[in-house]
Amino acid sequence: MKKPSRKAFITRRLTFSAAHRLHSAKLSPEENRRVFGKCNLPNGHGHNYTLEVTVAGPIDATTGMVFNLTDLKDVMTDVIEHDIDHKNLNMDVPAFKTLNPTAENIAAVLWDLLEKRLKPGLLNEVKLIETENNFVSYRG
Ligand SMILES: [Zn+2]
Repeated sequence: MKKPSRKAFITRRLTFSAAHRLHSAKLSPEENRRVFGKCNLPNGHGHNYTLEVTVAGPIDATTGMVFNLTDLKDVMTDVIEHDIDHKNLNMDVPAFKTLNPTAENIAAVLWDLLEKRLKPGLLNEVKLIETENNFVSYRG
């Protein structure tokens, strides 16, 4: 009987910087300040984000790899440099014209951008670290 292939998860990390303002039109100015704190400052503010992208799949018998990390790095760099890095998310990124750029929503948008560029079913998790103590995991 053939041994089932082993599945592994591999992760690549990338850092970037972006500005945002968190604000909901459904909340009053006071509620916005209370819910979003500093992230509701009228002119926005910046974060140094860390993005961790995990892909998962069987370990290839020939290469011993799930996916080439250099290819993953290239896809991530392309998406981040082109669409996100050093941008004002609210003003410069079409996805956030109507979507509040919370860590949750940024992770979901990055998932969509990355998934389009990868083999179907390969992307496993997008983890976005917004501050030293706060991060979000999104799995599609
Ligand atoms: Zn913020």
